[in-house]
Amino acid sequence: MKRKLFLGVILLLSANVLFFSSCEDDNDKPLAPSVKITELGSGHDSPNDKIGYAGSDIHINAEITAEGLIESITLEVHQEDGDFEFHEVYTDAKGLKNTTLHKHIDIPAEAPEGEYHLHLVVRDQEGQTGMAESELIIKPASENDDDGHGHDDEHDHDHNH
Ligand SMILES: [Zn+2]
Ligand SMILES: [Zn+2]
Repeated sequence: MKRKLFLGVILLLSANVLFFSSCEDDNDKPLAPSVKITELGSGHDSPNDKIGYAGSDIHINAEITAEGLIESITLEVHQEDGDFEFHEVYTDAKGLKNTTLHKHIDIPAEAPEGEYHLHLVVRDQEGQTGMAESELIIKPASENDDDGHGHDDEHDHDHNH
């Protein structure tokens, strides 16, 4: 009986030690950034269709929290079965703890159509990173019939190999 009580006290004490030391660790470093993509799509009419058109821009909206304050936001898009990739770095939210990112990314006109993968990487001022990712389909510009930009291909490039 006495022995059991003694063990219980020891356990309680060591639990306290663990509790306090893990608290201290948490105070040393702020939480790593958290990133959530809320919208990714071809435009404000279809803000979340996960489709982009080569030569056009794509709309992205994301919620970002960085207790260690935002240093930079990098958006990378790469082909699933190929080497084509492009990226943008944004520093206009530098120093902020929270931001709603709303950007329009230019998709290069020469981007091959197909499946892509998008990473949104947030680096904080402690050097920690947080990331969100999404799939993205890139389609040729000609399929984008609901935008009135009308890029008439007047030059006779040899596109039809
Ligand atoms: Zn937008
Ligand atoms: Zn990827």
